[in-house]
Amino acid sequence: MGISDRLLMGPGPSNPYPEVTMALAGPVLGHLDPQFLQVLDQTNDRLRRVFATSNQLTLPLSGTGSAGMEASFVNFVRPADPVVVGVNGVFGERMCEVATRHGAAVIRVEAEWGEPIDPDRLLAAHPSPAIIAVVHAETSTGVRNEIEALGSGKGDALLLVDMVTSLGGIEVSVDDWGVDIAYSGTQKCLGVPPGLSPLTVSPRAMDRVVERPSSWYLDLNLLSRYVNDSTGGGRVYHHTAPVAMVAALHAGLGVLLDEGIEAAQRRHAECGNLLQDGLVALGLELLVKPDHRLPQLTTVRVPDGVDDAACRRELLRSYGIEIGAGAGRLAGQVWRVGCMGHTARRRNVFALLGAMKEVLGR
Ligand SMILES: *Cc1c(COP(=O)(O)O)cnc(C)c1O
Repeated sequence: MGISDRLLMGPGPSNPYPEVTMALAGPVLGHLDPQFLQVLDQTNDRLRRVFATSNQLTLPLSGTGSAGMEASFVNFVRPADPVVVGVNGVFGERMCEVATRHGAAVIRVEAEWGEPIDPDRLLAAHPSPAIIAVVHAETSTGVRNEIEALGSGKGDALLLVDMVTSLGGIEVSVDDWGVDIAYSGTQKCLGVPPGLSPLTVSPRAMDRVVERPSSWYLDLNLLSRYVNDSTGGGRVYHHTAPVAMVAALHAGLGVLLDEGIEAAQRRHAECGNLLQDGLVALGLELLVKPDHRLPQLTTVRVPDGVDDAACRRELLRSYGIEIGAGAGRLAGQVWRVGCMGHTARRRNVFALLGAMKEVLGR
């Protein structure tokens, strides 16, 4: 069975929107071709709308979501800076590792995997942190962490948020929430193949950018001169933009804006509810309490006596549906069912619920 025949429910390069496929199949422009630069400018504008920000420095970084995480720390952390990081899953853990490698004195604020992080605990963790960092949508657990309260209470700190799995799926409001640095990925709720990391940085954060970060490739001082022509002196070449991927993101954002950001969020919410109610009706137990659940990523406990891997294999082999295994310390304990971007459709939810019923013999 070819990948295009598969009905996949999860992050991955699965059946993108036809517009995205067409963009990938289109002519490959030169990276300095004025026509491409126009596509890039429009992509940045579209990203501003989706992030709900007026930040001038908004761009798709060349690299997957993890490149956005790396760029967010390497450009703003100075040696021994106190950096508060919320940890309630794999990606919060990864933030700690990245921040530490860039010299931060990390203060971890942990919550159980499956529970949200209390914003007051993040705000109280240090009297004057340089950065407060948190994952908005923890893909390893299916938990939504509260962001808004952090923006109003952050004081002098920069607020850094991982929006890899939230952007396009649930409400995101960078400016209203007082977020200073946010990054995302293309292959989650934007429904575009992996390869770019949308990033947005507030002017307040740019005032504190490290002058000569230890990464040349991710140096925002250099990247901003390529992305914007703010000085009127023209763009300065930095590296060759991955033109085909930018064209795909441009198309995917076009689909999202045509549908409407709120309509897309509603579609995710409706599919998430349908899926979660359906799983409960099959007698399965969800990891996260209703108030903190993500619609786009549902964690369901692997029932006692069921072979985790065999069940996932059967779903893929016989029904063309891929669900994720548990990640990190939840490996073997949960399944992660993604319902993101173009896969967030009622028919996909019903197909999964029907297949799950058969595979589990319920
Ligand atoms: C997927 C993901 C990442 C990493 O993105 P990659 O594209 O795999 O590099 C980071 N944070 C979160 C919350 C994610 O879901």
